[in-house]
Amino acid sequence: MILTKCAQCAAPLETKCFRCGVCKLRYCGRECQKRHWKVHKPFCPEIKRQGGAEQHYANQKYAEFVKVAVEKCANDTKGQTCYICMEGAKRRHAPDEGLVRMCACRGTSGFAHVSCLTEQVKVLVAEVEENNLSEKVMNAKFLRWEECGLCGQEHYGAVRGAMGWACWKTYVGRPETDWVRGSATGVLARGCGMAKRHDESLAAFQARLDLLTRMCPNDRAAIIMCKDNISTCYDNLQMYDAALALKRETYAAWLRLDGPTAENTIRAAMNISVVLGRRNENIPEAKAFLGEVVPRSQKALGPDHIHTLQLRLLQGEMLFRAPDATLDDCLEAEIICEDVAKRYTRTFGAAHPLTGVARSRLTCAQHQLRILRGKAELASDFSRLSPEDQALFPGLAAGVAAGISCPDTKKNVEEWLQAAQEGKGAAKAPSIKEMKATIRKAGFGVADLIEKSDVVKRYQEALARLGTAQA
Ligand SMILES: [Zn+2]
Ligand SMILES: [Zn+2]
Ligand SMILES: [Zn+2]
Ligand SMILES: [Zn+2]
Repeated sequence: MILTKCAQCAAPLETKCFRCGVCKLRYCGRECQKRHWKVHKPFCPEIKRQGGAEQHYANQKYAEFVKVAVEKCANDTKGQTCYICMEGAKRRHAPDEGLVRMCACRGTSGFAHVSCLTEQVKVLVAEVEENNLSEKVMNAKFLRWEECGLCGQEHYGAVRGAMGWACWKTYVGRPETDWVRGSATGVLARGCGMAKRHDESLAAFQARLDLLTRMCPNDRAAIIMCKDNISTCYDNLQMYDAALALKRETYAAWLRLDGPTAENTIRAAMNISVVLGRRNENIPEAKAFLGEVVPRSQKALGPDHIHTLQLRLLQGEMLFRAPDATLDDCLEAEIICEDVAKRYTRTFGAAHPLTGVARSRLTCAQHQLRILRGKAELASDFSRLSPEDQALFPGLAAGVAAGISCPDTKKNVEEWLQAAQEGKGAAKAPSIKEMKATIRKAGFGVADLIEKSDVVKRYQEALARLGTAQA
């Protein structure tokens, strides 16, 4: 059941609970149902007509998600036609429904109506059922709820969410024992997750876990997978402790069930690393763990496998984000992120969100590299000055000691030096305000460099050490 909260008081509900006798809307008890009746009464017959509370909810959500998906795709789909019905946004036989496309299709291919995609998969699945085809064929056809039939890549973003509700609304009316209905809970849960609707995704995964533990307690793989997904929802909802605990549990379970080189085990390893990377204090553990898992994934799944790429990107990120990152670490991070970004672009296309993530990690690695390089250059320039000259520039010494550096800061310091050498008097230590202005001018967020990395505090300490009286 996806409706796992009381319609009146929103209390969480067990599988068995109190329901409206007509439309099956779910309540924690008779009291809540009575209280809700005034609001519910006018809608009850319509909900019943649409197939009951679960079906009605699925239909509503489907409409809501399609609208969002169409809006998100509006720029791409302008003037295009649906590859299934060959019509555009204005349709002759159906109400206006915009087009979508979120897969690896390029150019003018792959545009479609969500309703056309839905109809297409529905027919494919019905054919398998009518002809009693094998489970293997069914699995392959059922994947089409999540994959584009043209390019074979998974749909992503809002389109995936809309297809999730499309699948669920198609099969929700079937009995709980029906395989297809059970699989639809997974399509829905993953789809909501891809659409970044994590509350809805969590509710769907919890409903799925409840179903699995009741209907197929021996299907250990499916149960662990579902717990894995629940822990990812926790992570996305920023419940980090709960997420990490559950992820450690599922990783251990996959190791026991499938062994160290199985895709499931490697995905679970990746999931743990993601959560570890959320907090700076866990970065050393993440680095050590990734150092062991990345080679395993490269060997078992291959260098272009999505898990290998995601693991390597994390490895790069941990390298440059570590508080004790060295120049070499950042150089290595840059090489890793650049290679992963290239491989993503080749496999998934430039518009894919994962490609975007890889590119932004690359930018961060390069940014960090620039900071460290500037710092090293500034320190080495300073060390080349005579002790007398060094003494003339307490501000510069303090800057070096505080680790404030970037190419522009260096340029700024060179200007101070120049001024001093031209006999304009001994350069005085720049004030905190001037330091902030310099850093801001260099294009760094003051919040990033000053507030987060304690630069002001370190600068003040450095000044104090040098015996310079300055507030
Ligand atoms: Zn209630
Ligand atoms: Zn009712
Ligand atoms: Zn169409
Ligand atoms: Zn496609």
